[in-house]
Amino acid sequence: MITVKSFSFNYFSVNTYIVHDNTGEAVIIDCGCINQQEEEIVRNYIAQNNLTLKHNLCTHLHLDHILGNAFIHKTYKLSPEAHKSEASILPSVKEQARMFGLTLRIASVPIKRFITGGGIIAFGNSELAILSVPGHSPGGLAFYNKENGYLFSGDTLFAGSIGRTDLWGGSTEVLTAAITDKLLTLPDDTIVYPGHGPETTIYAEKIHNPYL
Ligand SMILES: [Zn+2]
Ligand SMILES: [Zn+2]
Repeated sequence: MITVKSFSFNYFSVNTYIVHDNTGEAVIIDCGCINQQEEEIVRNYIAQNNLTLKHNLCTHLHLDHILGNAFIHKTYKLSPEAHKSEASILPSVKEQARMFGLTLRIASVPIKRFITGGGIIAFGNSELAILSVPGHSPGGLAFYNKENGYLFSGDTLFAGSIGRTDLWGGSTEVLTAAITDKLLTLPDDTIVYPGHGPETTIYAEKIHNPYL
């Protein structure tokens, strides 16, 4: 049984998730903290629940999803984990920020641990299966906990929408195929925790999502 806590961070309102089980071991997904106040929220949650962070997972490396990596690296000595294609294709956080007209003092933390579809992330007595879902970005990943039926979909599948495909290495055909093959084939009652906006289910998106 895993517990999911979600936070909405930075001016892109990214969903950051902390997932743990009853052993206290935890993973953080898409840490988007942009300032000390948001870092404090993460630090307090981890301390108050006596959690040990084991992985810092990135669904992809768009800047809104990686703004907190430097904080996590410094505080918990954890390197971010992402797909190799993201690290090699996407510009650094500072360059991405420039393209959005933003100036950031946040440094990029190099990805030293590469993960890919078919792999497993283990923490405590729990597992997340890594699903390869490119299209919004070249090496997009989703994380699936079969035991609870939880899916962390990043910016691929949202409640009533799908990810944009006009950024670096995006492709609508590739994204739609990935969602259809990898995500819509999960059980209907799977709860989807997306990178932005509210939770949904696979069933609701199969029935109502106008982009699928
Ligand atoms: Zn994105
Ligand atoms: Zn995003």
